[in-house]
Amino acid sequence: MRDENCIFCKIAGGEIPSTTLYEDDDFRVILDLGPATRGHALLIPKEHYRDLFDLEDEVAEKVLLRARRIAGRMKEALGADGFNLVQNNGKAAGQTVFHFHMHLIPRYENDHAGILWKPGETTPEELEEVKRLVDGQ
Ligand code: AMP
Ligand code: ZN
Repeated sequence: MRDENCIFCKIAGGEIPSTTLYEDDDFRVILDLGPATRGHALLIPKEHYRDLFDLEDEVAEKVLLRARRIAGRMKEALGADGFNLVQNNGKAAGQTVFHFHMHLIPRYENDHAGILWKPGETTPEELEEVKRLVDGQ
């Protein structure tokens, strides 16, 4: 399914031009226009899925395989020192375009891209409570 009002449907389908690094029947990889680092790219399925939880299993499986293959190529070609895969789901998690996408972010020593978090604190009680809520015991 495509969504007529979705910018990533139009980009993935080629209706809106983009700098495309890779394309196949299911996905397009484009350069992000607001890059965290040099080479920041987005892996976008051609079908419209709102987020990770909306993806069909078959597409979800392909996402990581494509991401790994393209990230490896980018890392080598761009001389990156590391690589982040980032994928936001929901406004609270920083999602701004509601068509599933995986960020492919090459990292360079001292690039200062603000992707990592400051470690917080927890308690044994909280760890236990979260475990109980999630695993249902
Ligand atoms: P997110 O915040 O995870 O939803 O990521 C959306 C990303 O899409 C941001 O990194 C934007 O810079 C990027 N973006 C938005 N519109 C475009 C566009 N037309 N072409 C390329 N990247 C875009
Ligand atoms: Zn879409």
